Amino acid sequence: MPILVMKFGGTSVATLDRIRRAAKRVGLEVAKGYDVIVIVSAMSGKTNELVGWVNDISPFHDAREYDAVVSSGENVTAGLMALTLQDMDVPARSWQGWQVPLRTNSAHSAARIEEIPTDNLNGRFAQGMRVAVIAGFQGISPEGRITTLGRGGSDTSAVAFAAAFGAERCDIYTDVDGVYTTDPRISPKARKLDRIAFEEMLELASLGAKVLQTRSVELAMRYNVKLRVLSSFEEPSDTAGTLVCAEEEIMESKVVSGIAFSRGEAKMTLISVADRPGIAAAIFGPLSEAGGNVDMIIQNIAEEGRTDMTFSCPTDQVKRAEKALREAKEAGHINYHELVADTDVAKVSAVGIGMRSQSGVAAKMFKTLSDEGINIKVIATSEIKISVLIDRKYMELAVQALHDAFELDKVA
Ligand code: ADP
Ligand code: ASP
Ligand code: MG
Repeated sequence: MPILVMKFGGTSVATLDRIRRAAKRVGLEVAKGYDVIVIVSAMSGKTNELVGWVNDISPFHDAREYDAVVSSGENVTAGLMALTLQDMDVPARSWQGWQVPLRTNSAHSAARIEEIPTDNLNGRFAQGMRVAVIAGFQGISPEGRITTLGRGGSDTSAVAFAAAFGAERCDIYTDVDGVYTTDPRISPKARKLDRIAFEEMLELASLGAKVLQTRSVELAMRYNVKLRVLSSFEEPSDTAGTLVCAEEEIMESKVVSGIAFSRGEAKMTLISVADRPGIAAAIFGPLSEAGGNVDMIIQNIAEEGRTDMTFSCPTDQVKRAEKALREAKEAGHINYHELVADTDVAKVSAVGIGMRSQSGVAAKMFKTLSDEGINIKVIATSEIKISVLIDRKYMELAVQALHDAFELDKVA
């Protein structure tokens, strides 16, 4: 039988009623003749609560124990979903990550999937099981410890299962009815896209659009998984949602196709570092060893041999970054006067594959922000995106102004 992967996010399994509702959808696909692999997230809010507990107990925690705690939310929903399906007379069974086993590397709290053997589940499907419910977000390391795939990681579990089992499609059920030109919670003018290219979705996700985890898009692109994002609250239909697909399959062509934003970025400035060869390596080496993901970087013009170095990094890495830089200073590898962390910033980005061939996007973006009186603190660009760091209080305004300026509410 053809296999379908259906992933239900936190809000779609937030209550027992919603689990029943989701199970009904699974039942419909089973009735159509699919064997279904269901990937579930933890009930909405649960993972945040667990992360909060870990941070309260131990701010610089052992990541193995973080994973042991934080992965547990998914175990509950997997069992409840299997029970609900069984009550509907659908032959179903739940699996935790280690039971499959979904093998990952040892990068706790941000593990990468290495392998998903298919024999175990395929054997059960062959014996008449119709639904395998898998706890998303979790796997097992070579050392035999539970790992997690980073926040939002159930999306990645889903795509990885779809790739491993050659699923006909991977449906991501969430609380919005597709991928929009920007987060519909921020801009009432956001427009749902029927299709979006893998590359664009990848950038939007990595720049803050949490509708899909970045890694899930990467995997879908690599293994050519047919990926659809749709709402678990709307009536089922074959054309619902947004298809994430190859660029060639898209008719709509706009220079900018979406605006992403992130509140989770901080601006760090090292004031007065010696301007000498090797200084960037001396700063960013220790940061990278501490697991920091530095994104934007600016080095100011030097005066009298000293300069300021500014970079952005995820807010939850600020403490680690400060520690790494302090230690590098104490060890005499770098020398700076002060390290200033500004967490009151936001990153806003315009994304579009059309930027490859059309110039003027950056100019238009800067002009739009300037017309609104918004000061740009840091800029970063790549082939298909432009990002700026601005004061947090202007984030919504910036998103809406850019959405208007690039006419994203209108169909191309
Ligand atoms: P789930 O719990 O189902 O995984 P998430 O909260 O992780 O759901 O992702 C869905 C949310 O992503 C939406 O509620 C929406 O606020 C947000 N989002 C951000 N950017 C976009 C976008 N461009 N299109 C749609 N949703 C977006
Ligand atoms: N429950 C996890 C999280 O909130 C994984 C997921 O929902 O995708 O990050
Ligand atoms: Mg999610």
